[in-house]
Amino acid sequence: MKCSICGSDNVKFFERSERYNFDVYMCFDCRVGFRYPMPSKEEVSNFYSKEYYTGNSYYSYLDERRVKGSSFVWRERIDKLIKIYEGFNKIKPSNIIDIGCSFGGLLLEASKFGLKPYGVEISSYSSYYARRRGIEVFEGHLDDVDLPKGFFDIATMVEVIEHLDNPLKSVKKVFESLREGGVFLVQTANILGLQSRFYGGRYHYYLPGHLHYFSNVGLRKLLKSVGFREVLEFYPVEFGLLPKLIKVYLNASGLDRYLKLVKTGMYHVLGKVKVGNLTLMSSMVVVGIK
Ligand SMILES: [Zn+2]
Repeated sequence: MKCSICGSDNVKFFERSERYNFDVYMCFDCRVGFRYPMPSKEEVSNFYSKEYYTGNSYYSYLDERRVKGSSFVWRERIDKLIKIYEGFNKIKPSNIIDIGCSFGGLLLEASKFGLKPYGVEISSYSSYYARRRGIEVFEGHLDDVDLPKGFFDIATMVEVIEHLDNPLKSVKKVFESLREGGVFLVQTANILGLQSRFYGGRYHYYLPGHLHYFSNVGLRKLLKSVGFREVLEFYPVEFGLLPKLIKVYLNASGLDRYLKLVKTGMYHVLGKVKVGNLTLMSSMVVVGIK
């Protein structure tokens, strides 16, 4: 068996998801894990039904329209991305594309910063909703849609890369769609963080729709291999704790609210712990500069 990302045959069994009964193999050269055998295209597309987006299937996307205060987090994210872009380019970005934009929440906030919003979305159900919010949506799988080349200033992929069956091909496509100096943000879980190692086969990120499992080392290597000249890493995320606390505050009440606030604060602080390439928690954000 060969690794679909780096071509190495240093691929071995890694772990078995206890809850969903599938195997994860890992390439020990590029440090990326993947489901084996991969589910068929048909099985994968069945994941992204209307039920998935409305939270009514057994394995679901949390419907962002029902979560309060997400806009605080999205605004922080956009603000930080604009600063990173300006730092490298000395000019303001003019557009953004969100891969897996769902209902377009992040993009709606981006448009308030003056960025023209574009999205890629596999579900026609959420594409329809995003379009009604003024977003130009390329509907379909990222590998199949017709993106302009050398066009976008900022691209984001938030908790999407783990769903892709061929991340190398998909990330190359994003790279080509970016302008010189373009910024690409990827958020996913670090499978080689101590949190994941501690839970083993019970790790919460082992989900049926998650086909690839990245480590910080693997994601950096992938971005470098497709041509990003600079790669920045952020733990646990690229922005501060406050917007996350506001979101937690708005979505819980009573004792539960305070327990969740403490938990979120602790996770944020512990998420910064990193010795060499080893992190304590799972959360990571990697940013490539073209
Ligand atoms: Zn590999």
